[in-house]
Amino acid sequence: MSDINQLLRNLPKVDRVLDELKRTLSETIPLAIVKSAVQQCIEDKRKMILSGQLSSLPQGQDEWNSLFIKAITRKNSLNYKRVINGTGVVIHTNLGRSLLGPESINALQVAGGCYTNLEFDLLTGKRGSRYSLVEGIICDLTGAEAAIVVNNNAAAVLLALNTLSFNTETIVSRGQLVEIGGSFRIPDVMSRSGAKMVEVGATNRTHIHDYENAITEDTTLLLKVHTSNFRVIGFTSEVPVVDMVAIGKRHGVPVMEDLGSGSLIDLSPWGLPKEPTVQEIVQDGADVVTFSGDKLLGGPQAGILVGKKKIIDRIKKNPMNRALRIDKFTLAALETVLRNYYDLDMAITNVPTLNMLTADAKTIKKKGQAILRRLGGASKNKKIIELQQTVSKVGGGAMPEYGLPSWALVLHPGSCNAATLEKQLRSRDIPIIGRIEDEKMILDLRTIQQGDIPVLVAMLKSFSLECSN
Ligand SMILES: *Cc1c(COP(=O)(O)O)cnc(C)c1O
Repeated sequence: MSDINQLLRNLPKVDRVLDELKRTLSETIPLAIVKSAVQQCIEDKRKMILSGQLSSLPQGQDEWNSLFIKAITRKNSLNYKRVINGTGVVIHTNLGRSLLGPESINALQVAGGCYTNLEFDLLTGKRGSRYSLVEGIICDLTGAEAAIVVNNNAAAVLLALNTLSFNTETIVSRGQLVEIGGSFRIPDVMSRSGAKMVEVGATNRTHIHDYENAITEDTTLLLKVHTSNFRVIGFTSEVPVVDMVAIGKRHGVPVMEDLGSGSLIDLSPWGLPKEPTVQEIVQDGADVVTFSGDKLLGGPQAGILVGKKKIIDRIKKNPMNRALRIDKFTLAALETVLRNYYDLDMAITNVPTLNMLTADAKTIKKKGQAILRRLGGASKNKKIIELQQTVSKVGGGAMPEYGLPSWALVLHPGSCNAATLEKQLRSRDIPIIGRIEDEKMILDLRTIQQGDIPVLVAMLKSFSLECSN
């Protein structure tokens, strides 16, 4: 006990530390940040002493000061920052999903730094609707009669269900009651929307007559959900949306499909799985289709609803819409991304997500060779940095686990272990995020951007030194 008291007595006093630090620290750091970081530092030590996790304190002023300065620097730097994605997962939800190209970045600057016609009709000089800025483009691209955009696809699903099935029945297949991740679960969203869920079929098989038999006077929606990151294989059967539309028509019940990823392009010519495009589902007659802005579409976070004018008009009038509405930045970025889709080549070239997904292994390998060349004389690194084949993942939405042949820089941890190396890379000013395989660090070049290369080269040049301890 006396040891503990002794340690507690030896903790520095905040005021004295602040006086001392004032002499060494830059004046541009707000005093409130310095004070709070120092207090936190001392408080952490106090807690560790009290819980018996600490038996000695930093020795001398210098050791304390370096501890404080580290804490102050961390507190004074941005929490939300750029990282380098070396995971090879293109649509990486934890790393911000889709990247935007230069035109979209420019549009974001304009939306933020200038007044805009967000809700002002320049033709009439009267109040306008923010949705009208993209509705026409979305209709052109998808063939739908009408469209509206909201905060994300989860919001789109909630809004559609709430509009079309509040206190009434929605029929959905048991095989589609999925959890997408980030706590988006179809049954939970349905219940929050006010829709009464009527499950039909079995986990692996649902048939046309299952829907038909479940329709009552209380049914106002037939729902189909893309199972995204979940797959039932083997003895399975799903009812295509076109058949659901036929049943819906017979009974006067609208049909909705939550497509999740919602690609506007068939990516199978580039070796990706054939996924139904939004246009196809619209063509099949779905009354409303919902999809994400930042998955395969490669835009900003958004939820897009397209469909029959009568239905979309009802959704537009739902007061909940105001709470889920899209903001001006998203709208600015979304319009620029969508415009690329008027031309297939433009989309593949200008939308970073599509560009990365369609990049062939040869091109990716060249990126790696160029990096190794830039390391030049750093031949001492040869044994520990190699260019090897790997497999990237699509990520997010429709085909998360789908593998794409790729190339990676493989870093051998030498005397460290891979976990330590991973932590070192993650702790850098610009963190480098990779994955560990066979006790080696893999940096998949598919998701490494041109602008990342100088940062990566600088890290690799010092790499052998870094890991020598
Ligand atoms: C991803 C996904 C959602 C949620 O979309 P967010 O844009 O992330 O909100 C909903 N439904 C399906 C089928 C999905 O794949």
